[in-house]
Formats: sequence, structure tokens, C-alpha cells
Amino acid sequence: MDCTPISLPELKAALANNQLAYYYQPKISLVTGKASGAEALLRWVKPDGTVVLPAEIIPLAEQTGFIHDIALAMFPKLVADLFIIHDIKETLTISFNLTALDFETPEMTDLIRAAVQGSQINPKRLQIELTEASILNSGNPAIRENLQALVDLGITLVMDDFGTGFSSIDTLSQWPFGVIKLDKGLISRMSENPKSTAIVQSSIRMAHQLGIDIVAEGIETQDIYDFLMQAGCSEAQGYWMGHPLPIAEYLAFIKKDSRWSGLPVGLIHIAQLDHIHWRKTLIDLVVNFTPDETDSKVKRVLTEMNHTQCRLGRWIYGHGQEFKGHTAFDQLEDPHRRLHAVGRMLLNAAKRSAPHNEISDLLRMLTKESSTLLQLLQELENQAVV
Ligand code: C2E
Ligand code: MG
Ligand code: MG
Repeated sequence: MDCTPISLPELKAALANNQLAYYYQPKISLVTGKASGAEALLRWVKPDGTVVLPAEIIPLAEQTGFIHDIALAMFPKLVADLFIIHDIKETLTISFNLTALDFETPEMTDLIRAAVQGSQINPKRLQIELTEASILNSGNPAIRENLQALVDLGITLVMDDFGTGFSSIDTLSQWPFGVIKLDKGLISRMSENPKSTAIVQSSIRMAHQLGIDIVAEGIETQDIYDFLMQAGCSEAQGYWMGHPLPIAEYLAFIKKDSRWSGLPVGLIHIAQLDHIHWRKTLIDLVVNFTPDETDSKVKRVLTEMNHTQCRLGRWIYGHGQEFKGHTAFDQLEDPHRRLHAVGRMLLNAAKRSAPHNEISDLLRMLTKESSTLLQLLQELENQAVV
């Protein structure tokens, strides 16, 4: 292997000569066990067939600012690849990596916006992976504007390498990320370090509480895959399921339509916890009622009074749909609607300071619907395991 570091003129020539390409690493849905998309990863494929990895390209490109030229020049190639991928399966979501540097000026955002507005890409099927370090290191306000414009178009931002920095959680609350991607280092340390396992589990729980998806990268064994599935992680990527592949091989991979396990017991368990949390927050609010609707807790409860907006509701009408056809799942909708109707009655009763016995009657009705729901979720969990 040639170990001489590459130079900027070489890299420029590679881009000009069309030698940079994206390889696609499969992502698998842990809910269905089927391919759900891919991450596009940069490769320099030399005329003699040798492949140069990002570790040799990205640092040089970042230091010189050439990374931005690469991103702009590669985007039309990505769009062309997406066309072919979506011809085979239009539900696949493709992510690609950018740095905060790409958003200091509006060109990248404009390019993506033009592709969306020209119907060349469906924004729901495109994700942008950013590492938090790249955002934290820059204090430029244009970055926020340009990223927000993409989120407004319907594109999802993924926080890459989650768990490697110091302020991941803080960054998450300040930037419009829709997906967290657990770092491969954290995932690989799980086998020898119980603390890493606890961090992974609580990150999954946190993502669910925030209502965002969570992907794990670097899955190299079935054990890790199974663990993440049981823990309620939504998607997985790693050598165990598939390496980064040239586009033609990736297309063959999709056509094969392979299946991994998809046993979303973890997701059912989290749905149960979500429901208990909703009930507790509502009861808390009713018992200690203050009519301050600007209070963030009150605001959240009010949004979650709609049966499609609470976390359990989002699950029922989202990932949970995978269970359609299971008796316990099909029976969830009615008690869940009734539960929300009682919840609204309770809030109204609290607002007009209704007598105690009226409130306790409603609380009893709420608890009844809630235990029906929990029982159904438990049955579903039992049915799904067998
Ligand atoms: P990343 O975005 O975190 O991508 C995941 C990296 O982990 C990829 O390395 C992938 O090949 C590798 N990987 C995937 N599964 C496994 C596994 O099971 N075990 C192990 N040990 N590794 C696994 P790759 O392709 O060498 O890319 C390295 C990094 O370079 C990427 O990390 C990303 O930060 C950056 N990068 C790649 N393409 C681009 C690009 O087009 N633009 C920019 N700005 N950065 C890029
Ligand atoms: Mg990435
Ligand atoms: Mg990563």
C-alpha cells in the first residue's frame, strides 16, 4: 500500500477527472428487519482500481477548505444515484455527510433546495449527517439559518458520532436534529464496558423522549445487532449487515431483499413507558393545576392531548404500524382515543375548578382506559416474542 499522504493538487485532479464517488453502506430497520436506506461515503477510486478512504481525504480537504468544492461537485452525483436507487425502492432513505463549513455560505443549501423544488429529490428520503464537533467549532450564525432552511424543506439532520463529544445533549437541544447516530466507538466498547452499554440504553430512551429516531453504526456482530433491537434502537448500520458498496453492488444488495431479524419488543416496551409518562404528567397537571398556558409543561401536555400527537400515538401511527394485523395492536386505537377524550375532560374540569368527586370520577375513567392500553401492549409484546 502506498503510504505517501495525498496532496491538494492530486485531490483537485481526482475531482476534476471524475474519480471521486459515493459508496453506499446499507442501513437496516430494526423494526422490520429490512433494508431502510444507506449512508453515502466518499471514495477516491483510482484508475488502477485502488480505493482511497476518507481518512486520507477529509482532513486535507477540511484544512484547505476544498471539502466545500467536493460537497458541491458531488451533490449532482448523489442526486443521480438517488434516482436509480429510488427506481428500485422508493422508500429508501439515503444520508450523506457534510460539515458545518458547507453551511457558512448559502450555496449548498441553494443547491439542495433547487433539487427539491425541481422534484429531483424527495426531501423525506434525504438525510444530512453532521458531526457535532464541526458545529460546535464554528460560531457562524449563517450555519443555523442555512440548516434550518433545509429542515423547513423537510430534510432530516442526523447528529453523527453521538457519544464522542462533550456536549452532545446540549447541542441536541440547540440544533434541529431529527435523528441521533450512535458512534461506532461507543457501540464497539459495549462488549467490554458495561458503562458504554448503559450510555447506549439511556441514549435510546432519550431519543424516544425527544420524539426522534436513533440509528447505531459500527455493528459488527449479531449479538450487538440483537441487543440494539431489544433496546429499542430504530436502525442499524455496520459490517455485519453490509460494507460500503459501489452503487452497482448496492443496487444488487437492494434487489436481493435480504431479511435480518426485526423484533421490536424494545419499541413496545418504550411505548408502554411513554404512555405511563403521559398519564403521570397529565395527572400531575390536573392535581396541581395552574392556568398558565405559557408554562412549557402545560404547553407540551396540551399538544399531547391530541391522540395522534402523544408519544404513544406517534408510535401507533408510525413504527407501530408494523404490528397491524396483531389482534392486540388492532385493539389499541379505541381505548387510546377514549383515554384522550377523558384526558381532555379532566383538563376542562381542572380549568373550571370542578368539584373533587367529578375529578376523581374522571381520574378513575382515565386509569381504566390506561390499564386496558397497558394490558394490550403487554399482550402485543408477548405475541411479538413468539
Ligand atoms: P462516519 O460518517 O461516521 O461513517 C461511518 C464510518 O464507519 C465509515 O468509514 C464506515 O465505512 C465505517 N464503518 C461502517 N460500519 C463499520 C463497522 O461495522 N465497523 C467499523 N470499524 N467501521 C465501520 P469511512 O467510509 O472510512 O468514513 C470515515 C468518515 O469520513 C465518516 O465517518 C465521515 O465522517 C467522513 N466522510 C465520509 N464521506 C464523507 C463525505 O462525503 N463528506 C464529508 N464531509 N465527510 C465524509
Ligand atoms: Mg456519517
Ligand atoms: Mg459516524
